Formats: sequence, structure tokens, C-alpha cells
Amino acid sequence: MSLLNQKTIKNSVSFSGIGLHSGKPAKICVKPSSPDSGIVFKRIDLKNNNLIYPNFMNVTNTALNTTISNSNGVKVSTIEHLMGALFGIGIDNALIEIDNEEVPILDGSAKVFIEKILTAGLELSNKPIKIIKIKKKIEFKNGDKFISIEPSKLSLDIDFELKYQNKIIGNQRNKINVYEDDLTEVFNSRTFCLYEDIEAIKKKGLAKGGSLENAIVVKSDNVLNPEGLRNSKEFVNHKILDCIGDLYTTGYRIIASVNCSQGGHYLTNSLLRKVFENKDNFSIIEIQERTLPHTLINRSLLRSIA
Ligand SMILES: [Zn+2]
Repeated sequence: MSLLNQKTIKNSVSFSGIGLHSGKPAKICVKPSSPDSGIVFKRIDLKNNNLIYPNFMNVTNTALNTTISNSNGVKVSTIEHLMGALFGIGIDNALIEIDNEEVPILDGSAKVFIEKILTAGLELSNKPIKIIKIKKKIEFKNGDKFISIEPSKLSLDIDFELKYQNKIIGNQRNKINVYEDDLTEVFNSRTFCLYEDIEAIKKKGLAKGGSLENAIVVKSDNVLNPEGLRNSKEFVNHKILDCIGDLYTTGYRIIASVNCSQGGHYLTNSLLRKVFENKDNFSIIEIQERTLPHTLINRSLLRSIA
């Protein structure tokens, strides 16, 4: 059976922990679902109107996280690391049950999501995956921050740069090919903040669950986490993880080249809204394996479940 067919998780898998921003405990269960159903969140603490689709049009908040809401205002926040893991592993369809409003932050990365989902295994269907191919270059700018997406032959490339005055973060840049590269460092990279920003973030009612257990905190020339950094580009690698997760709010694999400087959830979401405003910007294709010798799901992750 073709790996270009749609996939779901073979066995249900659960995660528990607190939300980074709400500080509230939540349990989620990622369950198998049928072809063409996509990724769907279900708030099982609510009886009615409890389905929320992680589509870029349903993104209602991009302040330090990606929040999706349905038309009744029922929301799930901080979906981006789980969505990044699902994209990376190549899961097209899954029902994600959650008993509160925010996906657990766990260790601040996608590491635990990736490991547990790979252990649960994948189930192939007989339906081909659908892919969005970007046909025109689209840009979105906000001050000196920008993001662009343009056509690419077969890959999804993400070139991301960060520019911080802080010496530890500094100017960090990384470029990855989502379907070809070993993404372990991207998935293992944790969310981060500057120590001096914490008070302002907390005043906004965010990061109530934040700690050195789930975020890197940088204070002038020091990383406050006793274990230090997990990799030398952990800051920009985490931004790439966020970007992959946010790109998955299109609902499909993507063939394109993305360039981003100092962006985040707001820029990625704004870019997607702009792309899908005009049908000339993209096409949605079903790919037959004989025409494309390419898995469109990450190869190093595939090897680990083979
Ligand atoms: Zn993040």
C-alpha cells in the first residue's frame, strides 16, 4: 500500500499535563479516524458544539500560541506543537479529544508527542493524500518582520531567522527540508522567553503554567534552565516547529518554500489567509506514487516506525 495514502494513528494515545498559558490541567487522547476526516479537536468536557477544526480560518488568537475556536466560541489553545508533530509524522486523520481548553505543554517541545505517536504506530488507508502546491509567491510583512511562501518542486523548505539583541539568542538561522531532513532537533526544541519579558507576559494573563520544566528562560547571558540547551539552534528550531504546526492549519501536506524573518503565529496565519484568498495562488492535488517517488512524510521518522 502506498505511503502516499492517508494515514491515521493505529492505537489511541493519551497525554496529560498543564497548559502553558491557562495553567489548567488537561488530558488529551489522539484517536484513529477515517480517511478524509482530517484532524478534529473535540472538547469532551462539553456536551454540545464541542468540535473545533484546526483550520487557519478558525484561528482566533495568535498571542504566544495558536488558538482555534468554533462558531460557538468553544476554543482549544496552544495546538501548534501537537499539530507540528502530526504534520511531521504524516498523520492526515485523527480525532483529538481534550477535556479542557488548552493542549498540555509537556516539556515545551513536540518530543513527547512524536515519541508516543510513533510508538502507537500508523494505519494506512486506501485513499490518496491531498497536497497543496503553491503556485505564486505571496508575502506578508509586519514592520521588519516578514514571511513569504513560493513555489518549490517537491519539497517543503522552511528558512527561518531570528534577530534578538540578547547575546544568547542573537541572530539564529536555520533552513530545513521538512520531508527529507532529520527533524529530531526541531521536534525536541522547547519554547522560550526572555526573563525580563515574564512580568509583562503574566500581566496579559499568559504563561500561568510556565516554568523551567516547560520553557527555556534566558536572562542576559545565561540560560536559567540548569540542563542548558538541547541543541545549538534550539531557539530558531522551536520557531520552525511552530511554523510547521501553523502551516498544518491548511489541513494538507504542502509543497512550497517558506521564508521567515522574526515571525510567529500571527505572521504565519496572516500569510495563509492571504494565500487562500485567491485560487490562482495554489492548487490541491492528489499524487500517484508512480509520478512522484517521494513519501511527503519525513523519512527519518518513517524509518523509526518501519
Ligand atoms: Zn511554540
